[in-house]
Amino acid sequence: MSAQNRVLVTGAGGFIGHHLVRRLKDEGAWVRGVDLKPPQYTPTMADEFELLDLRQFDNCLRAARGGIDQVYNLAADMGGIGYITAFHAEIARNNVLINVHMLEASRLQSIKRYLFSSSACVYAQSRQTNAEVTPLREEDAYPADPEPGYGWEKLYSEELCRYYRQDYGFQTRIVRFHNVFGPLGTYEGGKEKAPAAISRKVAIASDGDEIEIWGDGEQTRSFMYVEDCVEGLLRFMASDFSEPLNLGTDRLVTINQLVDLVSGIAGKRLVKRHDLKKPQGVRGRNSDNTRLATVLGWEPSVDLESGLEITFRWIEGELRKSGRIADKLSKRMTV
Ligand code: NAD
Repeated sequence: MSAQNRVLVTGAGGFIGHHLVRRLKDEGAWVRGVDLKPPQYTPTMADEFELLDLRQFDNCLRAARGGIDQVYNLAADMGGIGYITAFHAEIARNNVLINVHMLEASRLQSIKRYLFSSSACVYAQSRQTNAEVTPLREEDAYPADPEPGYGWEKLYSEELCRYYRQDYGFQTRIVRFHNVFGPLGTYEGGKEKAPAAISRKVAIASDGDEIEIWGDGEQTRSFMYVEDCVEGLLRFMASDFSEPLNLGTDRLVTINQLVDLVSGIAGKRLVKRHDLKKPQGVRGRNSDNTRLATVLGWEPSVDLESGLEITFRWIEGELRKSGRIADKLSKRMTV
């Protein structure tokens, strides 16, 4: 990447955006980050960071001003399954506004390449009713039957990218993430996703305790470590491929297995209490990486255990810093 490459990352105060900014700086790019909020846990490395609400068109024009070459549009109102199933109207409205305005502003500002962060939530729900799910190929998004609210919005924004390419020759890239996890991501408050929520619960629990699991825990997913996600993003942006592309791993695990892996890392034996009233999303979801491997000549390689170890230790450390886990020494002294 040339030192002159000027890049805008929206959602740069969020989980993937923050990691992407750091990586782009390592690669020598000039980076502007934009978000509603600065990164929560460590300072941004962006050359410029602006607090802007990208639901407003003028703010999108401002974000993309000044000879930016590439836009990674990662800003979105999103969270784990509890969040995206509870707020359909608000999430769909916020994200439609961000994506419609960011796309048009980027075109008007003569951005050379624009990447839209879509999601595996665009895939037809009818293909995900079984835990032993057939991995999802990019063409399985149609006939359309995506996740209500969040998934419909992502699918519509994908289409919008396609129209802009067809009608204006505007260069777009559409990536469909499958469950990204890692350190520096939200782990409490309602927007956290399964690996972070499980890590928090396991970290807070004492050996032998019970922890709550949403659903029966037999629902399946695949998980990608954030360093792989960022690597895939850079490779995809540099490619000539403009159709939607899965970015995830194809190792399917149940949520119960995920809990066991995290408990093993923590060295705790915990009892799972399954709450069947809590949302669990589709029954099974996996990524078919055939297109990814063909287009990029690359696939994510960080194994789940190593990624979880880093993530768990980080969340445990944060909880300890905020006094949510008594460290062993002080616990012994107070007994
Ligand atoms: P995140 O919530 O950590 O980051 C998104 C950021 O967008 C947040 O910092 C938020 O403040 C910002 N934002 C929201 N509304 C905004 C607005 N109006 N103006 C400006 N900024 C705004 O989420 P993430 O995990 O980093 O996700 C990044 C992108 O990847 C999103 O588009 C998300 O939908 C997509 N995605 C993520 C995953 C995953 O597993 N993390 C899976 C599928 C898709």
